[in-house]
Amino acid sequence: MDDLSIDVLVNKENMLSIDYIPKNMYIVDNNENNFHNYLIDNIKPMLRMEVKPYIEKLIHDANNNGINIIVDSAFRSGNYQQMILDKLISEKGNEAYKLIALPGASEHQTGLAVDFAIYENGIYNDDIKEDDKEAIWLKDNAWKYGFILRYPKGKEDITGFNFEPWHYRYVGKEIAKYVYENNITFEEYYAYFIEK
Ligand code: ZN
Repeated sequence: MDDLSIDVLVNKENMLSIDYIPKNMYIVDNNENNFHNYLIDNIKPMLRMEVKPYIEKLIHDANNNGINIIVDSAFRSGNYQQMILDKLISEKGNEAYKLIALPGASEHQTGLAVDFAIYENGIYNDDIKEDDKEAIWLKDNAWKYGFILRYPKGKEDITGFNFEPWHYRYVGKEIAKYVYENNITFEEYYAYFIEK
């Protein structure tokens, strides 16, 4: 199977095959302290090659503005998603299903989604809050690089996911600008333009 289009919609109703893996990915070289060490050592985040120039420019510009963010979690395979889910179920029971997507329903599997973390003065923080300066900068600026806030506050009924101020999705600059300016979700964008 070829790599999916960069505007692919993945959610609970539009799931990927659990064994889909993008062909053309690269290893994001930021630092060792990322989400993947939560479960498996020495796995670095990977993204689709198409995303590389845009995420690099975003991180570079963020850093120049005193916003010290890193790519925390990026590509996750269907099997890896299952491992995370199993671990969370063991910790939190059924609450886990509200916090993390089923394998195939996570757009992390596309290699086009990024969870950001704060990495400042050697301190790693993967729990970006709505009012943190990093979240505010991303919300105001990520669209310029082709990324959208994928699970906005107040849109939980549409996206099927809780508000995640750290989770962004690369969709390309044109779509990102439209989604940002019209304050809509990717689901709404699809309903208006793709499914018509
Ligand atoms: Zn995420």
